[in-house]
Amino acid sequence: MAVSQSDALILFGASGDLAHRKIFPALQAMVRRGRLDAPVIGVARTQWSLEQFRARVGESLAKHPGLDVQASTKLSGLLRYVSGGYGETATFERLRKELSGAAHPLYYLAVPPSIFATVLEGLDKTGCARDARVVVEKPFGRDLKSAQALNRTLRASFPEQAIFRIDHYLGKEPVQNLLYFRFANPLFEGVWNARHIERVQITMAERLGVAGRGRFYEEAGAIRDVVQNHMLMVIACLTMMEPAGNDHESVREARASALKTIRPLNPYDVVRGQFRGYRQEQGVAPDSRVETFAALRFYLDGDRWANVPFYVRVGKRLPVTATEVLIEFKRPCCPVLDEYEPPLADYIRFQLSPNVSIALGTNVKLPGEALVGKRTELVAHQGSGDDMDPYERLIGDAMSGDARLFAREDAVEAAWRAVAPILTSATPLYDYEPNTWGPNEADRIIGEGGWHNPQGAI
Ligand code: NDP
Repeated sequence: MAVSQSDALILFGASGDLAHRKIFPALQAMVRRGRLDAPVIGVARTQWSLEQFRARVGESLAKHPGLDVQASTKLSGLLRYVSGGYGETATFERLRKELSGAAHPLYYLAVPPSIFATVLEGLDKTGCARDARVVVEKPFGRDLKSAQALNRTLRASFPEQAIFRIDHYLGKEPVQNLLYFRFANPLFEGVWNARHIERVQITMAERLGVAGRGRFYEEAGAIRDVVQNHMLMVIACLTMMEPAGNDHESVREARASALKTIRPLNPYDVVRGQFRGYRQEQGVAPDSRVETFAALRFYLDGDRWANVPFYVRVGKRLPVTATEVLIEFKRPCCPVLDEYEPPLADYIRFQLSPNVSIALGTNVKLPGEALVGKRTELVAHQGSGDDMDPYERLIGDAMSGDARLFAREDAVEAAWRAVAPILTSATPLYDYEPNTWGPNEADRIIGEGGWHNPQGAI
């Protein structure tokens, strides 16, 4: 069945932070690449004229690197604005007028999740939802129950194939590269299993604290903010089976199936931490028990990954800002090698940010009589970061109806199931000094060999 291109983009919450920081720059980039030529209708309660809305978009583009005068002028010409309450039928009537016959609009709900139901109901009631698509942003609920409720709300107005859930991590170039590297290099697919892989480490470290977003962070914490979504998506990309086809449903099916194999966490496999000084941040409760650090050990069901631990460590106020995946293979065991200086395990290291590279750690022999060697790293790929911003990629994909990089309902629910046991059990919370790698208790999770600490920007 041919998939139709969206012929209008409607941005609810056009006055908000996400629109200003991410969406407008992405729209300019889409115009520059010739991926956007449809009306862009901002909707918000803020009483702006079209000129004021244009000025707001111009302000956003001026602040963002990569201002393109030609593209921004063209984008400005595509803009329309509708002001009004999200619960008022009159707002949707005005919106319908602005849509002026668009057959496949795409609605982007850049509003707080508490407003989703009101907006969806308005779209449904006024016939605006017909043959349309909808984009929502993470967080998709705060636990399994609220995620299921959100899915029910969305499904009441839109069929699943018209719902585009953005976890922008999936739109990142280096995350895409995890999949590409695996399936484009059968050499590695052959050893991509429990027989050859000892363990996997994924670290997402941030130097920054909560950067003035204490109130938001108090509602989330590290596990809800980045583990349940971004980190589990990375595990899914690392472990999913080859999709049955190149269509987006096959890719989503393979990713969702991988997420369904992640075993619900045992509270013993989690260490939570909070950096000293967090409780003094604006918007943070003086007795807050919210974690700014988490070290976790996941296991997957099934033979392919039997007993391979997937260690995840995320945290704020750590010594560097870097995200890295380390695949550690089993140590070689061969009688001709020197038993006193045995080779180290091979590894593959994916630097996802801020530098982007794929490196292969191997052993090579040192010159001399003995069969001893040294560790050498072959850098297989190096790039300077994202070429296409994830938001540009994802909005373009949603407009063309390509759901490959969007989270399906069952995938979101599977990810919540994996972390559910630790959201309800009160696991201890340990302090750590800013600029360290979190509380020492995190070492209990990883055992022999210890954590691999990535380097920051070079
Ligand atoms: P904002 O808090 O900036 O809200 C967006 C707009 O929604 C506001 O400008 C306001 O517009 C309207 N709004 C806010 N609160 C209410 C309310 N209580 N009732 C009715 N309208 C309200 O949100 P963000 O732009 O930060 O985020 C939008 C969505 O994206 C959210 O779902 C968020 O969770 C998600 N998200 C945001 C990220 C970010 O970096 N900001 C990152 C990842 C996800 P007006 O008053 O003019 O109608």
